[in-house]
Amino acid sequence: IRWTEGRGWHDAQLQPYAPIEIDPANMTLHYGQAIFEGLKAYRQTDGSIATFRPEANAERFQASARRLAMPELPVETFVEAVELLVQQEQNWVPNEPEQSLYLRPFMFATEVGLGVRPSNSYLFMLIASPAGAYFPGGVKPVSVWLSEDYVRAAPGGTGAAKCAGNYAASLVAQAEAAAKGCDQVVWLDAAEHRWVEEMGGMNLYFVFGEGKDAKIVTPALSGALLPGITRASLLQLATDLGYAVEERKISTEEWKQGNADGTLTEVFACGTAAVITPVGSVKSQGGDWTVGAGEPGPVTTELRKALLAIQGGQAPDTHGWLHKIV
Ligand code: PMP
Repeated sequence: IRWTEGRGWHDAQLQPYAPIEIDPANMTLHYGQAIFEGLKAYRQTDGSIATFRPEANAERFQASARRLAMPELPVETFVEAVELLVQQEQNWVPNEPEQSLYLRPFMFATEVGLGVRPSNSYLFMLIASPAGAYFPGGVKPVSVWLSEDYVRAAPGGTGAAKCAGNYAASLVAQAEAAAKGCDQVVWLDAAEHRWVEEMGGMNLYFVFGEGKDAKIVTPALSGALLPGITRASLLQLATDLGYAVEERKISTEEWKQGNADGTLTEVFACGTAAVITPVGSVKSQGGDWTVGAGEPGPVTTELRKALLAIQGGQAPDTHGWLHKIV
């Protein structure tokens, strides 16, 4: 679907997957006006296909567009595009458990020119690709590196937007994490390098205490972290399951101390790609430590199962999160 100044949205087309032509002076290549979303369609136990909260992705896409001075695609148009594409793939059959159809909506500038200003035209596209289980051999805790030299987002910056530049800026820290032998990077705040923000492409959750008395804490939205749809769903789901849930600031000292004295029992990350990933160990300039028993904890496992069951249609969808398509 194209957008042109003075004309608005026009020329929606459904086409077979194919390369597109880009002018060397396309403004996206120089100034980075590019935003995207990621969501999944799941084959339901009754044979239908449903996506999970596509309206929430559409709304976040609009927020990203506003931050990058791009036009907002109407929520209904975004959802309709998702429906049309999934309908094309209705014969898709998952060939392994937890396989899904990954959908990648994105939008970028199409004006040709070298002046630094918002483009006067844009292209919104949507592609689909089957995605295998994130943990084919069973859920395994990841190791994380606390990034103290690089930050992902600064106050007033683009941290809350899902824009390409955030990911470009994250790659060097992800490489640093890999060089330290870690699977993922954990981002801290820009001012004090102390407050935990998020992990790679996922939001973080901390579990204090055990059993149904456990309290679940996630860093509050600060404008510097992406408001994850899985994060928002888990706030609700954990409450439904009887846990006390809190959104607040959490520091690296509290994390380290909590693991040392046993009050912090589990840490996990959440996002569309992996749903829920346990965090098993931490490395940082100030020392290394393990989280809980270094195994997926009971609260992590319970929430993971509960969310996957809703997404796959095995559990009742009490919040109306599933959007049935075919
Ligand atoms: N943070 C970042 C930086 C991400 O890229 C993602 C993935 N979109 C998330 C968090 C998790 O968001 P969601 O639950 O909407 O996938």
